[in-house]
Parts: sequence; structure tokens; C-alpha cells
Amino acid sequence: MTLIDRTLVERLHQRLRDMPSTEGQEQIAEGFAEELAETLVDEPDGAAQTTPQGRLELARRLIQGILPVSQSEYERRLSICLDCPEIRFLIGRGASTVAPGTAPLLQCKVCNCVMNAKARLRSSKCPLGNF
Ligand code: SF4
Repeated sequence: MTLIDRTLVERLHQRLRDMPSTEGQEQIAEGFAEELAETLVDEPDGAAQTTPQGRLELARRLIQGILPVSQSEYERRLSICLDCPEIRFLIGRGASTVAPGTAPLLQCKVCNCVMNAKARLRSSKCPLGNF
């Protein structure tokens, strides 16, 4: 199993926040994929990782999976979830354990994902096709 170092994810998201254009983001993502490919090692069951090109392709797929959406798209997705009958408030509206003003923590009852995190990723899809 391949794990992406958490600091790499944080650095990637930080760089992408500073680069609003999609083209610029793709260039940054490619740079991070090349960096990640350097850290991947051959594994017995990892055929795709056995060549430098295979490692780079795998790294590109991994990076694409963690690219974030824009803030406006993130807010659009969460507003859809907030209006959806399938949303559950883990913390927030109606909960007695949260101080006033704390953002709600939202869980989808269909996929069980915490939407505050899932809605951030470009690769995420609503299981009912709402985004
Ligand atoms: S992910 Fe889709 S189904 Fe789940 S709460 Fe959001 S809009 Fe509803």
C-alpha cells in the first residue's frame, strides 16, 4: 500500500491556494507528482511502480485524487449538502456540545463520508449525482 506523506499534501494544498488559475494548478500538481514519484518504491504487488515512468503515472493519479476544488465550489457543494435530506449533523445545528458559531460537521447518510472533508476534493462525487 502506498501512503502519501501528510506534509506533501499540506504543501500541495498551500501552493494551490496561492495559484488560482487552473493551468497554474496543473503545473504545480505535475511538479508534486514528480516529487512523489521519487519517493515511491517497488512493491511485490505493485507492477505499475516497477519503472520510473510507472511510478510517475501512479504519482500523477495519486496527486489528482487529492487536488482540491476552489473555495467557491467547496461552498457550493456544502450548500447542496445542507439542503439535502440525506445530511446528518454530527456536530452543529441542534447539537448541545458545540459552542455558538462553530461550523457544523456534516455527514452524508448515503456514503457516510464527512462532507466537510470530502467536498474539498475534485475527485469527490455525490453518490446521488448532485455534484
Ligand atoms: S453527498 Fe449528495 S447525497 Fe450526500 S448529503 Fe451531499 S448532496 Fe446529499
